[in-house]
Amino acid sequence: MPAQKSAASPWPTDLSAYCFEVPHSADSRLFTSAKGVRLTDADGRGYLDALSGVFVTCFGYDCEPIARAVQEQLHTLPFSPPLHGANRAALGLAQALVDLAPEGITAAKLVNGGSESIEAAIRLARLYHRSHGRPDKVKVLSHYHGYHGATFGSLSLTGRPDVSRFGPGLPGVVHVWPPDCLEEFWGVEPERSAALAAEMIERTIEAEGPDSVAALVIEPVIHLRGMAIPSADYFTRLREICDRHDILLAFDEIVTGFGRTGNPFAAQTFGVTPDLMCVGKGISGGYAPLAAVLMSERIAAVLGDEGGPRSFAPSHTYAANPMASAAGLAAVTLFNDGDYLTRIRELAGFIEPRLRKLVEGRGTLRSIGLLYGAKLTGPDGGQGPVGERVARACLERGLILRGQDDWLVLAPAFVTTEAEADETLRILGEALDEVCGAGR
Ligand code: PLP
Repeated sequence: MPAQKSAASPWPTDLSAYCFEVPHSADSRLFTSAKGVRLTDADGRGYLDALSGVFVTCFGYDCEPIARAVQEQLHTLPFSPPLHGANRAALGLAQALVDLAPEGITAAKLVNGGSESIEAAIRLARLYHRSHGRPDKVKVLSHYHGYHGATFGSLSLTGRPDVSRFGPGLPGVVHVWPPDCLEEFWGVEPERSAALAAEMIERTIEAEGPDSVAALVIEPVIHLRGMAIPSADYFTRLREICDRHDILLAFDEIVTGFGRTGNPFAAQTFGVTPDLMCVGKGISGGYAPLAAVLMSERIAAVLGDEGGPRSFAPSHTYAANPMASAAGLAAVTLFNDGDYLTRIRELAGFIEPRLRKLVEGRGTLRSIGLLYGAKLTGPDGGQGPVGERVARACLERGLILRGQDDWLVLAPAFVTTEAEADETLRILGEALDEVCGAGR
């Protein structure tokens, strides 16, 4: 039945043609417009967005340079035949990404979304080993409780119990425990957790057989654990372990990329260069579906000679799409030319101490750049887990953030003003008072 609109409600009366991301409930909104960091719904209600959509709209919802670049591209070359060549925007974006990445990263494969970039990373890792005469190196290790996407390979790497409802995943995926799980589930002291988690990964590799393992794919900051942030030492150890066993190290920087952690990528924040980097979300500022997998020269070399064109197939019809690439190139150019790293560090310096004070006595705050996670300690009871309840109380007051289990996460846009940050903290404070009781 075609969707109809009633005079009384802005919603079509028959919603059955559309699949929502969340169950259609009080938490679903019909968003109709946005400006800066504020959205409006069909009932005229306003929302302050402290999550950048979902780690995406770093430059706000009305970023003129990106919107203009997309519009110009639409009027010059809306699509380019992918089997017969490339387009200027895509070439420019690939170079801009390589320039922004840590030294040693030399090529980029553009795709349409984060999950596709994870799929590409898995395929690249297997291809790399096969082309070096090691076709049996196919297994992929990833963290329990990490999130890597919704396609079959990326879902298989996602080590969360809720993915089991889709049946068996990709063969050859092995999950390993990240440091913060060791701390929470087994009471390992924070000073020891990085070394122990790394040692357990090496033991897992030995038990699986190093000759069968292609790659270790991890989020540097695990956002579905309430922004679990390992020490830099953890990444140094993982780099050493991967090198020792000829295993590729891949960072899923889909959340942490493009300035979120205070540097262009978490790889630079933690001082470790992976072989593969999956990037997405903030890459286009939300102006087009776009992601990429960035790779070191030893992997790019499998796809073509240095200095010459590289090729990696099969690909996707809309990969390196001119419109999406134009959005990405404009966003990365703005990120560089607008000195957003300085802005991110200033805004983080403003928010962090205030947020820490707010959370004190009701949980612990994890923060890195403009990424925040609060692990709340209570109270038990009420409808649903505490993180979810606080997020709902925020939404009722017109503030968007994310809450699940016992955690909340915030990722304000880089263009958030101090007044908007204060408003965010005020509303969050009210929601915390309501759900958790007074703080300190
Ligand atoms: N990896 C991480 C860390 C993510 O947060 C996400 C999405 O939330 C993905 C991968 C998948 O990206 P996409 O939703 O663009 O496919």
